[in-house]
Amino acid sequence: MNTNSYKEFLANCKKEISKEKKFDFSDSNFEYIAADVFRNVEKIKQIASNIRYKFINSIDDSLISFDKHFSENGGNIHWCIAYDDFLSKLDKVLIKNKIKKINLYTSSFSDELGISSFIKENDYKAEPESSDCVIFTPEFGIVNTGSLFLNFSSAYDMEMVLNGSLKIFILPISDFLFKPEETEIFSHLYSIYKDGTKFPYITSMFTPSPVDKNSNVHLFLIDNGRSNVLENQRIRRALTCISCGACKRVCPVYKIIGDKPYDNVFTGPIANVILPFIENIENYKHLCFTCTSCGNCSSVCPVKIPVSELILANRNYFFENRMMDIKDVRFANSVGKMLVSRKSLNKKRWMKVLRLKYFTNSQAVNEYSFSKSTFNQQFIAQFNDK
Ligand code: SF4
Repeated sequence: MNTNSYKEFLANCKKEISKEKKFDFSDSNFEYIAADVFRNVEKIKQIASNIRYKFINSIDDSLISFDKHFSENGGNIHWCIAYDDFLSKLDKVLIKNKIKKINLYTSSFSDELGISSFIKENDYKAEPESSDCVIFTPEFGIVNTGSLFLNFSSAYDMEMVLNGSLKIFILPISDFLFKPEETEIFSHLYSIYKDGTKFPYITSMFTPSPVDKNSNVHLFLIDNGRSNVLENQRIRRALTCISCGACKRVCPVYKIIGDKPYDNVFTGPIANVILPFIENIENYKHLCFTCTSCGNCSSVCPVKIPVSELILANRNYFFENRMMDIKDVRFANSVGKMLVSRKSLNKKRWMKVLRLKYFTNSQAVNEYSFSKSTFNQQFIAQFNDK
């Protein structure tokens, strides 16, 4: 396949994605719930999308404004480039405050930063009942007020976090809204779309208090690869993701392969877009090629991220910049030719295996099971029987 025909192929995929009708591979019913909760779901999604995209497009000024408000209220902000930078700054704060016991509320972000391992490997004790030091991940920071929007699964958790002597909050640089009122829409969207949401849950707005002398609040604002996505105009929209996990649950490929091939806390369709840039292209570029372009992820996303199109944009980028392995290119060419040739599809099983073996150089091909006859042959046989 040359560059022009590959581009044509991508354009056709995009057309297919934008078609109204989508196959529903999901056993989740959140789209129906959303239709019940909101009179106009698409309008709500568009509003949520606009808020998030506006923030991502003004991230520099917005974060500086948040920092100003948060610090004026007596909170301490630590800007961190990556997880190792964060862990060393966290260690300094813990040592300064003579902390031995840590009450960590785990989240996918705390897993991403490796906080549990850090506690185990250093001289700290994980203590869920302790209020000496609590580490918690807010849902969002609020730019205009310097507040944090918190979501708890019980009143007890809320008590523990808000009464912690040393409160440590961790937040990725991308997770912000502008105004407290905006949290209402996102609370509703979370309760409908977020994976594993347990009801009832409690939300709270936390703002450090300048008059509270006992208040010891630290917020770690952490990049950890997100600015690589930000500087990439083609896919920066992926940073508006609110990590609800809905795209995973409607992805036919994820349903089969699960989390394992990702070997990362980011999994599912949105991970196919961002992982090559948050981690590295070499180890994660192949993920984009697992996508079938069914478009389910784009249509379900509560903040209207065109996930399928961003995956295609990545493919295009890797192809144009000659980042694909020559073996993959040969394999794609060969399979492409096979799939458009009826003669080739009708060939015997051993010929298909031989061909795949040659192009993939893989012994695993022996395990592939091809049907004895093609759909075409089965159809003709049925027709002849009648
Ligand atoms: S990209 Fe996926 S995880 Fe992110 S907001 Fe959209 S549906 Fe949720």
